[in-house]
Amino acid sequence: MLDEILEFNKEFVKDFEGVELSHLPKKKVAILTCMDCRLTGFLPNALGIERGDAKIIRNAGNTIVGSDAIKSIAAAIYSLGCEEVLVVGHSECGMAHANPENIKSKMLEMGIKEEDIDDIDNLVEWIGAIPGEEQNVLNTVEAIKNHPLITSEVPIHGLILDIVTGELKVLIDGRE
Ligand code: ZN
Repeated sequence: MLDEILEFNKEFVKDFEGVELSHLPKKKVAILTCMDCRLTGFLPNALGIERGDAKIIRNAGNTIVGSDAIKSIAAAIYSLGCEEVLVVGHSECGMAHANPENIKSKMLEMGIKEEDIDDIDNLVEWIGAIPGEEQNVLNTVEAIKNHPLITSEVPIHGLILDIVTGELKVLIDGRE
């Protein structure tokens, strides 16, 4: 796959007219969303976000539990001028069905030491598994709002994107 990507890139730069954009997001918004491959080239379009508009933070299950996403959100607010945060979950999230037994046996199969796996308190939580798409967005918004390093001056919204239709549903309007 790497060779295919490098080959493509050679052609890409030939036709691409370079543009200089600011690293500060034009729309002053940070979006925490999932790494799901179906969101690539889809979520920004569905939200009207263009190149240079927003800081997009992605991880498995758009969660801050056991992840460093909270640092990126803090950076977006205090260093990059974001004035609003959107947590955007999506339907059919693979992280809502993560199975600890399967994950552990795959790790063992691929040469990870059992004691290193057992050192992790909660494997499913560590890997970003979520209780359910909507519940996870509610939990994540709460966790960000209650984090001691996140100011209450920045609204934290919670939304769910339908992975098939692209429709957005507001679960929490952070302005309320
Ligand atoms: Zn997902």
